[in-house]
Amino acid sequence: MSKEILVCGAGIVGLATALALARRKQPVEILAPLPAPLAPAGDPYHPRVYAISPASQRFLAELGIWDALPAERIMAVQAMEIHGDADGCVTLDAWQAAVPQLAWIVESSEIERVLTQAARLSGISWIQDRCVGYQSGAVLTEQGGQLRADLVIGADGAKSPLRLAAGLRQQSAPYDDIALVTHLDVEIPHQGTALQWFREDGVLALLPLPDSARGPQVSLVWSLRSAAAKAIQALPAAEQAARLEADLALATAGRLGRLTVNAPVHGFPLFLEQAEMIAPGLALVGDAAHRVHPLAGQGLNLGLGDALALAQVVAERESFRAAGDIRVLRRYRRARAEPLLAMRLATDGLHRLFGSHSMPLAWLRNAGMTLVDQTPMLKRRLIAEASGL
Ligand SMILES: Cc1cc2nc3c(=O)[nH]c(=O)nc-3n(C[C@H](O)[C@H](O)[C@H](O)COP(=O)(O)OP(=O)(O)OC[C@H]3O[C@@H](n4cnc5c(N)ncnc54)[C@H](O)[C@@H]3O)c2cc1C
Repeated sequence: MSKEILVCGAGIVGLATALALARRKQPVEILAPLPAPLAPAGDPYHPRVYAISPASQRFLAELGIWDALPAERIMAVQAMEIHGDADGCVTLDAWQAAVPQLAWIVESSEIERVLTQAARLSGISWIQDRCVGYQSGAVLTEQGGQLRADLVIGADGAKSPLRLAAGLRQQSAPYDDIALVTHLDVEIPHQGTALQWFREDGVLALLPLPDSARGPQVSLVWSLRSAAAKAIQALPAAEQAARLEADLALATAGRLGRLTVNAPVHGFPLFLEQAEMIAPGLALVGDAAHRVHPLAGQGLNLGLGDALALAQVVAERESFRAAGDIRVLRRYRRARAEPLLAMRLATDGLHRLFGSHSMPLAWLRNAGMTLVDQTPMLKRRLIAEASGL
């Protein structure tokens, strides 16, 4: 093994971690199948889009990849409108908070394509193989390799074969929710506003996308109780679209006019998970380390926060310490503890608050939203928190 640091997994978080380390002159190698070359963006939007926070945008800009993303496929979010299940509503807008935008909506495929190009161009070597085990400090690969490194970073996703093989503990609790994801043509322009409805039966989000040739469109993320989501998933495509359109018309009360499904519907079962993030010579980042409910659109942002924090502590370690020294890795765990806990509590708390049938809670959550909406200082604070500023 020639390199000191080995990153297993080349999703967005793994690629960003490798690139952040390379930019800090750390010798790093990637172990992952090379992604199939992604075609340049065409008209249909990639089914996965992410809300990217200002903190993540700054990090991607630091890695030199933000400007390489096609500007015409990125949507700046100017406002957020969050509805309760009665008449509670909070509107957060960039203008009130004196920031140019609250977030950006970007396709997963575009971030991955540009990060992969950047990793290849920056000379990071790429072992085209998969991690299948971890024994006595060595990563075992599918093709029979045994790779040693001072630090092995698990960026291999929620099911992380590395985490499992290394025996890092994980707490995992399924939400009884499946997120249905698709794109919708809308009748009324969204004007860069992200809309969200917290309902007793789940959380519905409409994220603004750039216009297609047909007109304005949004991306739908609808977390529904599993039974309800599965009933929709079981329908043939045409009936599925008709059913979703009818349910959405009721849930959104015509806020964006008529909604028309324009892409296949995908379903993602949701989990609340937190793993032990470090062991001597090992660190986990991204979904390998944690998953939260997507109601705040923050999972990837948390993973990018891990990537930046880990690259920083590794690059800033004392010269006599190895990258995988447990004292170095404890600094990483400390740096991530508060943001991870805060996001876990916020997303899980909101999920419980709005999933409850209790009448006093139903009143409180809507009254609370109205109160927040009438308190500009609180709104500015919320925007600053959400932006990672
Ligand atoms: C419905 C939904 C909506 C979401 N919306 C948002 C949002 O708006 N904003 C946001 O910030 N987050 C969002 N998230 C969260 C986000 O999707 C994840 O947090 C993010 O994709 C995690 O990235 P990752 O790189 O850690 O993992 P992954 O994307 O899973 O990447 C893991 C990589 O590891 C590779 N791999 C797997 N096994 C091996 C192996 N054995 N050896 C080598 N490589 C391996 C895989 O091929 C893959 O490339 C959402 C999640 C859901 C479910």
